[in-house]
Amino acid sequence: MPEPIKLDDFMDWIAERSPEQTEFHQTVHEVVQSVLPCVNDNPDYLRARILYRLVEPDRIVSFRVAWADDRNDVQVNRGYRVQFCNAIGPYKGGLRFHSSVTESILKFLGFEQIFKNALTGLPMGGAKGGSDFDPRGRSSGEIMRFCQSFMTELYRHIGPDVDVPAGDIGVGEAEIGYLFGQYKRITGHFNGTLTGKGLEFGGSCMRPEATGYGAVYFLEDMLHSRDDAIEGRSVVVSGAGNVATHAAEKILHRGGKVLTLSDSGGFLHDEDGLTEEKIAWVRKHKARHGASLADYVGEFGGEWHEDKKPWGVDCDVALPCATQDELGQEDAKRLANNGCIAVVEGANRPLTIDAFQVVKDADVLFGPGKAANAGGVAMSGLEMSQNSARLSRSAEDLRTALRQIMRDIHNTCAEHGEGKQGVDYAKGANVAGFRKVADALLAFGVV
Ligand code: GLU
Repeated sequence: MPEPIKLDDFMDWIAERSPEQTEFHQTVHEVVQSVLPCVNDNPDYLRARILYRLVEPDRIVSFRVAWADDRNDVQVNRGYRVQFCNAIGPYKGGLRFHSSVTESILKFLGFEQIFKNALTGLPMGGAKGGSDFDPRGRSSGEIMRFCQSFMTELYRHIGPDVDVPAGDIGVGEAEIGYLFGQYKRITGHFNGTLTGKGLEFGGSCMRPEATGYGAVYFLEDMLHSRDDAIEGRSVVVSGAGNVATHAAEKILHRGGKVLTLSDSGGFLHDEDGLTEEKIAWVRKHKARHGASLADYVGEFGGEWHEDKKPWGVDCDVALPCATQDELGQEDAKRLANNGCIAVVEGANRPLTIDAFQVVKDADVLFGPGKAANAGGVAMSGLEMSQNSARLSRSAEDLRTALRQIMRDIHNTCAEHGEGKQGVDYAKGANVAGFRKVADALLAFGVV
């Protein structure tokens, strides 16, 4: 039997190989902690050094993105694509345009994506990409020129059977349109190389809704497993983008009350609860890059809390849907003390490691992002198959498919996360995703 792996030794090895990439270290720690017992129990995994291979991306491409702003001044940004693992399908994952983007952030997100994509049950590998370009306050002309320059390099690394990028923070349908337009112009190929496309050119119905709706479906299944339901529950949501507004909308459909939304300037507290009309207004307003959520108060009332986060508001459920590390230890304590019964990650790892521990110790139901927000990439997987088959499925058909995929993800996590103290969904998501990818890697031999 080969020597078992010790968590501390493994983490020292990671820290040495990728110094200062703290976001990446944290996510590796979280996954490895969960999967280590199943790795150490399996001599084949140990002998093939699966874990050591899995934390090393297949490749990272980084490139210059030069473009001219509206004053004709030349701007220089850096673009990346982290192609992490294509063991079970073409690389798949979003592009993020935000000033906080670094290689460490994209490695963390790309690593998470491997397991998330595996959990969907669809054949997709894990990747992530983006740029430190900040679209806030930029005109559509500037965004278009940036996207064109970005794709002028990226096109050579992607393709429908190679790597299929999509959106993420700062990259929505408009940016995907510019990126796809440039890809098609350079290569001459009309294919499914990007997902999240407009409906007119191969996009899928339900893609905008999928991540937010999916997170609420996951919440619904978690509550259902405890004979509970969303109806009548008060929900605190962070973010005001695609994920947050669709999560809020689905909470309303299920009879819950949404009290908050937030953006980088603060949070909005509407005691009367959001309505479909208010959500539609937010979506339209925030589509203008740089528009503030604070303007909501002038339109509908409520309170605006400058530079604050919504986690102090009394609620039954918290749905962090903005960005990583937005919910810290103190926030988690406050939520638990205020009687919150469930926290579901609509964003990618919005809870810090400390916050996660608090939620776990307090026995609050926890839906980890790599399972709960997998609805978006699952719908992307269905978009890929529609593009390959050159057909399109109806919104109703896709809504049913998304509901079933989220139920399957919930059940898979519950099955692999079952323990003496009940279900640990975070562990279940890690173990189930890992096993699938590890077995594929084993089948390929040493590559
Ligand atoms: N950016 C989304 C995610 O974090 C979607 C990725 C995709 O559709 O490829 O899962």
